[in-house]
Amino acid sequence: MDFEDRYRVRPKHFALADHDTGDEAGLDKDASEELRAKDLAKLDALQERLYAEGERSLLVVFQAMDAAGKDGTIEHVMSGVNPQGVRVTSFKQPSKAELAHDFLWRCQLALPSRGEIGIFNRSHYEEVIVVRVHPEYLDAQGLEASSGLWRKRYDAITAWERHLHESGTRVVKFFLHVSKAEQRERLLARAEEADKKWKFSAGDVAEREHWDDYQRAFEEAIAATSTADAPWYVIPADRKWLMRTAVASILVHHLEDMDPQFPEPSEDEQAAIREAVAKLQAE
Ligand code: ATP
Ligand code: MG
Repeated sequence: MDFEDRYRVRPKHFALADHDTGDEAGLDKDASEELRAKDLAKLDALQERLYAEGERSLLVVFQAMDAAGKDGTIEHVMSGVNPQGVRVTSFKQPSKAELAHDFLWRCQLALPSRGEIGIFNRSHYEEVIVVRVHPEYLDAQGLEASSGLWRKRYDAITAWERHLHESGTRVVKFFLHVSKAEQRERLLARAEEADKKWKFSAGDVAEREHWDDYQRAFEEAIAATSTADAPWYVIPADRKWLMRTAVASILVHHLEDMDPQFPEPSEDEQAAIREAVAKLQAE
């Protein structure tokens, strides 16, 4: 199954309604889990090479409606990799210091270093999604909503992501696409199950009332910022087993394409190694 091709956004003809939230890609749960187990092993090996090479990085962006499964997907997909090479940042409502800077500032600070995988759990896209649905949030940034503002932000985002790409950071963006009915089930489950209650937020139910506004904001932002350098993937999120497998597979695709290499020691370094080994052997 070529998940990369199946779920990559083609911006010219993009409509969220064309993306089935319940797609199973012709798999069942067992087949999906078998595929995922193989990809998780590959991810572990690829991440080690990326870290050893120490020259480039991978930035993975997750955006979704509440309860679509960002946290669970990050947890499952990253379960096999060495935590030392991964940096996860969850972007919440901006702090005073963050609001006192331009909207990309806090994301710039959270970027992965060379060799690292960076994961954004929410991201700079909140600035064209939640802020668009609630333009009054702009007040705190000293800005006013104007017709050109969102277009300018899309342009700033695509320029920034192009710069990252050219600086050695591969940018891969996932929209976990859940249906309104499935979100309702998951929010109810949070309220009812003892070990999920802590996740329940009445605010999520309030935001759900803006469902259509959010979908429109996502659709426009994704269409405007899907580029060859920083592609979006719309991942069906109604089946968790499919969502996690698709994300793992697409990450393997990108890391294989980057093809990181263990560094070869130089002539001098090899001579130094030989000398050190000889010393050890002589002990
Ligand atoms: P959880 O799964 O724990 O609920 P979460 O990502 O929903 O994870 P919350 O603390 O519930 O975390 O929500 C974070 C909130 O912060 C979201 O409502 C999100 O829209 C909001 N937020 C994130 N970035 C911004 C931003 N730049 N401006 C305004 N609000 C933002
Ligand atoms: Mg939440």
